[in-house]
Amino acid sequence: MASPVQTASASASGRTRPVPRPGVMDIHAYVPGKSGAGGAGKIHKLSSNETPLGPSPQAIAAYAAFGDKLALYPEGSASVLREAIAARYGLDPARIVCGAGSDELLSLLTAAYVGPGDEGVFTEHGFLVYRIAILAAGGTPVVAPERNLTADVDAILAAVTPRTRIVFLANPNNPTGTYLPFEEVKRLHAGLPPDVLLVLDAAYAEYVRRNDYSSGIELVATSDNVVMTRTFSKIHGLANLRLGWLYAPAHVADALNRIRGPFNVSGPAMAAGAAAIADEGHVARAIAHNDAWLSWLTRELEALGLTVTPSVGNFLLVHFPDAAGRTARDADAFLTARGLILRRVDAYGLPGALRLTIGDEEANRLVVAALAEFMGGSRG
Ligand SMILES: *Cc1c(COP(=O)(O)O)cnc(C)c1O
Repeated sequence: MASPVQTASASASGRTRPVPRPGVMDIHAYVPGKSGAGGAGKIHKLSSNETPLGPSPQAIAAYAAFGDKLALYPEGSASVLREAIAARYGLDPARIVCGAGSDELLSLLTAAYVGPGDEGVFTEHGFLVYRIAILAAGGTPVVAPERNLTADVDAILAAVTPRTRIVFLANPNNPTGTYLPFEEVKRLHAGLPPDVLLVLDAAYAEYVRRNDYSSGIELVATSDNVVMTRTFSKIHGLANLRLGWLYAPAHVADALNRIRGPFNVSGPAMAAGAAAIADEGHVARAIAHNDAWLSWLTRELEALGLTVTPSVGNFLLVHFPDAAGRTARDADAFLTARGLILRRVDAYGLPGALRLTIGDEEANRLVVAALAEFMGGSRG
């Protein structure tokens, strides 16, 4: 009689247990910004580009009003939220797709257009989620070099091959804070084959105060192969709810709506998002706060002898000397001990720098004071 106990035996393939698809085990899991310092005292988390203003009070109220509806499935097409976004930006709501953070949308786009043997292009210091999404889809990541920590259109176009299916451009980019003027984005688009999807990740678009910048809505509206992604995690202060959206050609929205989870956005997130996008006063206050402190911090840090990459986002890339006791790693330890949590960016190929999110006044002044001590103090 056969034993009822199953014993491991090799399958026809020779494998003794489930094995992930090629590419999955090449992924280095995304490491979020630290949130604690491990000690006592007040912590200032300046490591994840969250807004110091928090969300709109109206968004908090809309979220809270959902407390008695948690047993019900959400409305699966996110129509109220899509209508609110469409009204704010003058868009066709049918071409908007919402997701659990723009991270989910980046993954859905890749899953829909990239498979084994296909290539996806992104830039040297580009957002790490692109590599993860491409590998997860079984595709091959291709890195285009940057120039002066800025995306280089010619290098991106040179990286495109007949196998390229998708190109990701974070504009502005995280963690560098640099951006491409719209003329350059249009030149990139003009140089791509029509069957390559250009994804413009505009997570920080609201913060940019430059006349030559555009998030790319116009390009999406007038072409068949451009998508723009946006998030509620940054200026809208809803990172914990996981909410993002994209604007796409109708045929791309159709593909995404076939593969996304039927209830990929929660009701509280949709309600809070719709309220947040309508509260233009709150967004204006966040922009004004960022404008003032971004330039103040840039000036103050440069006055300490640090190099700061010019940023149009809500964060700064700060470069430290390659000198014993004053490296980025030393600075990180020094600041963390004082409750100031910045972001190490070694994984972005920037081991000599830290990324600093613009915080509230107290945090910004503490960072400058601590770094003055760090740069001035005798060490070794
Ligand atoms: C923060 C960020 C996002 C947003 O991610 P969510 O999943 O929406 O929170 C997307 N792209 C870049 C470049 C970012 O820095």
